[in-house]
Amino acid sequence: MPELPEVETVRRELSPWLSGRIIRRAKLADADPAPKYAHLEKASQQRILQVNRRGKFLLLPLQNGAELIIHLGMTGVILARKPRRHIRVILDLSGPSQRRLYFQDPRRFGRFLVVPGGDYRTLPTLHRMGPEPLSEAFTTNHFHRALSASRAPIKSLILSQRPVAGLGNIYVDEALWAARVHPLTPARALSLRKVDKLRIAIVRILEESIAARGTTFSDYRTVGGESGGFFQQLDVYGRDGESCRRCATRLRKRVVGQRGTHFCPQCQRLPRLVKRDR
Ligand SMILES: [Zn+2]
Repeated sequence: MPELPEVETVRRELSPWLSGRIIRRAKLADADPAPKYAHLEKASQQRILQVNRRGKFLLLPLQNGAELIIHLGMTGVILARKPRRHIRVILDLSGPSQRRLYFQDPRRFGRFLVVPGGDYRTLPTLHRMGPEPLSEAFTTNHFHRALSASRAPIKSLILSQRPVAGLGNIYVDEALWAARVHPLTPARALSLRKVDKLRIAIVRILEESIAARGTTFSDYRTVGGESGGFFQQLDVYGRDGESCRRCATRLRKRVVGQRGTHFCPQCQRLPRLVKRDR
């Protein structure tokens, strides 16, 4: 699933195509109208003011005060060249050059809808989303406060998007490995020092991945149909059975909150107190 670096890469690519352009027509292709594509018709005849991002969501404020919201889901891509299959939305744009963009989504988890500007009540994840990790709002103190209120496993809590926005399975696993935190550690058991390490790891990994235009995995492509280059830099994700780059222990994979989770059993220990409880 595309995470923050992949969505940010798409945003940067889309921005010159879409900012200031008028959507002549937003057309639903092979998809059910609601709720994932609710009120899409309201984007027609509207100028796109900007292309913003929040977590894994693209937010496009429109001239009439509404907001076009795009979530790529598992397999959503926005393409300038017409794909053969699985087209869900077609955007006809004003302007001299490219006139059309296609939203292709084989597995149909994506969303492409219009809401009143800033009103995300129909999108609970967005509505309750934590700070942007690459903004000044994401401080160690804020992060520590958000984590100390929960006994959920740190991995599951970060995936909820509530303590910080934008991380999915890949970047959570990478950040936890970098900070030497076991994915099952109860969030509130992390010391301020550990939380600081984890925050620094999150910021560094996301920045490096954005610089590499994201990680390529099965379905993610940029608007031009290219792939991202961060895949080679992954330290744990998808490397179960291989050696830890820090201590050479064999990396393991187990399920945490229904997600395949990669970690080093040597570098990422559960705190002793937790072990006794289990
Ligand atoms: Zn290790």
